[in-house]
Amino acid sequence: MSTPTTPSAELLREVALIACGRREGKTRSCRSCTRKAPGLLNIAGTGALDALAAAVCGSLTSACQDCRGKAETIINATVDAPCVT
Ligand SMILES: [Zn+2]
Ligand SMILES: [Zn+2]
Repeated sequence: MSTPTTPSAELLREVALIACGRREGKTRSCRSCTRKAPGLLNIAGTGALDALAAAVCGSLTSACQDCRGKAETIINATVDAPCVT
């Protein structure tokens, strides 16, 4: 009973947390990153690393090194997700 067009809440939480900056002891992202997560997941689905990094960074054109790393992590996380094609 799952809807294929809706990403799992678990994956969204994971993406939000990565974008927010995952570190030890931190289990939740801030509200702003939680809101960004569905959009980030959309971009991740296209595999556009540059666009994803820019979205994580909050910039339209370029992302910092930190956010590029986060974008890679997000793409890896979505690729591994069993429910996302
Ligand atoms: Zn955040
Ligand atoms: Zn950044």
